[in-house]
Amino acid sequence: MKEFNLSTISEIRQQASIVEIISEYVILKNSGRDYRGLCPFHNEKTPSFHVNLEKGIFKCFGCGVGGDVFAFLQKVLGKTFGEVLRDLGARYGISIEQSNQAYTDTAIHYKICQSAMTYYQELLLNPKSGQVANEYLKTRDINHDSCQKFNLGYAPNSYDGLITYLTKYIHVSVLDIEKAGLARQKDGKYYDLFRNRLIIPIINEFGKTIAFGGRDLGTSPVKYLNSPETPIFTKGNNLFGLNLAKEKISYADYVILVEGYLDVILAHQNGFSNTVASLGTALTPRQAKMLFKFTHSRKVYLAFDNDQAGIAAINRGIEIINELVEGIGCDLKILNLPTGKDMADFFLHCDQDLPLKQSKIQQLELALESAPNYLDFGLNLAIKDIDYHNSNGKVQAAQRLIPILAKIKSVIARSEFIKIWANKLLINENDLSQEVRDYQRQSGINQPSSHKIQAITIAKPNLQHSNKKGFYRQAEIVILAYFFTSQDDLVYMKSLLINEIFISMESKIIKQLIDENVTQSKSVDELFALVLDASSRNDVNLKNEVVNVWYKAQEIISQNADMSIMVLDSLKKLIKEQIMQELPKLLLELNNQENSAKIQSIISNLKKIEANELMKANDVNNLLEIYRKIKDMLSFNNQLERLK
Ligand SMILES: [Zn+2]
Repeated sequence: MKEFNLSTISEIRQQASIVEIISEYVILKNSGRDYRGLCPFHNEKTPSFHVNLEKGIFKCFGCGVGGDVFAFLQKVLGKTFGEVLRDLGARYGISIEQSNQAYTDTAIHYKICQSAMTYYQELLLNPKSGQVANEYLKTRDINHDSCQKFNLGYAPNSYDGLITYLTKYIHVSVLDIEKAGLARQKDGKYYDLFRNRLIIPIINEFGKTIAFGGRDLGTSPVKYLNSPETPIFTKGNNLFGLNLAKEKISYADYVILVEGYLDVILAHQNGFSNTVASLGTALTPRQAKMLFKFTHSRKVYLAFDNDQAGIAAINRGIEIINELVEGIGCDLKILNLPTGKDMADFFLHCDQDLPLKQSKIQQLELALESAPNYLDFGLNLAIKDIDYHNSNGKVQAAQRLIPILAKIKSVIARSEFIKIWANKLLINENDLSQEVRDYQRQSGINQPSSHKIQAITIAKPNLQHSNKKGFYRQAEIVILAYFFTSQDDLVYMKSLLINEIFISMESKIIKQLIDENVTQSKSVDELFALVLDASSRNDVNLKNEVVNVWYKAQEIISQNADMSIMVLDSLKKLIKEQIMQELPKLLLELNNQENSAKIQSIISNLKKIEANELMKANDVNNLLEIYRKIKDMLSFNNQLERLK
């Protein structure tokens, strides 16, 4: 196999969320430390497929398949490690090979975006060139710190200022600038895409500038202009502000989702730095998953515009998130801003409209506290214009509510909402419930949503192999698991446990990888990450074993088992197995008259060792002594073989 840079492997593994990627194939539910779902590699009805976000690994307790994000994609897509690495590298903007053409293009795109950002920023900072933009920023209450934090800039009202700058100083071609979405062509002449606009760089989750948004500062009919989609920028795969928000999102354990750039900037400026925006009005499933990556509680507040388009966006967002709710489970709330039509507007104007005693921050905090659940909001919104106090209204209201109620995936939540609304409309609960069931039947909603995904069941792994040697493999896994349970005595154990004590090649390699990394890792977690990455160089089965070892370690830790006894027992099993493997060969040798007496004595000695010494041994040193003795006897036999 081709060698890949270990730091690249590690960088990609850290940036790729295993839950996010596996969720594209399997519906995962959070359950304790792991996420669980139905295994895509074997047929099952109860989920035994586990994914651990923190460690970046998966394991199926049904069929035994396990590994990291690379191994999962290899198995699911039937691709090689190199192919998967390249795919993920491209997805997260990490270079794999210098010679790769796609990478070279990507690198140029990044370089152009980064340089353009610098160019725009300098023009904003310059009091003369940036005057118009700075005046606009003042009217929007955006301060200098925010300009710096969001790398805001100004695109001058010049035909080809950026093109000239980039071609002259950065030495890139105008064609590349066009491909990066910053130049356009008309009658054979190239011109800047952004002119006389406040520039808001779109920076991805990992801090790379990938595109721009531009707010018109003149009289253009297009108020906001965005970069077109390019190889490094797909609207639906990014959230504006996530690079700055992710820390606060995981700390506060909730996220506020708004619509516009200025909404995000002003929210951050006022301390709500766990705010991000979808680029464009509709939230994509990919974006929804990105939101969940950083929140344990998956609490999302949607704060879209109070106008028609905003409400449509909320409904669309609800639909997308609702789709995901069953798989991942989330707590979605609708944020009703006390004043203003959007977040930016709220921060600008709310002081005039509400009691001055409350600060903007207090007001927003109160609004967050009282934000309704998205279902309450959606149901109320649906019947907003109906007077349901007369019988006509009741029928009309029920007709609008039924489709929404029918879509609620949780049975418990659904019957709860049916009860609440039957009471509210003063109609019979059973009747409403029946209508909802009828609607579900007619529209085929009852189909389990996992149906589609289950269809992508993938090639069955080869299980025979692991079952046959299951007996001693378990023993090997326990011994290796020792290295992932505690940092104590690791180096001592490492020197004590010789690689040849392991029978399977996988275990020998894992032990070697542990040896190579144990001294430089500061913690068990770090050692595991290093071993996992290093195992990428070998085949996918090895990684499976590394994951098995880690899960075994967790099992041992959770059972509070005495590790030294377990290691000792496992070593005994391994030595016994080695004896058992040698015995048949020796018995065959007995036919050889010449050495039969000698071989006979070896056999009886081995049997004696197995029955007595091995059983009685009570520490690792003692066991290893016995092991060496056996080896000596066997090497005598091997010498005989070679002499013949
Ligand atoms: Zn399975």
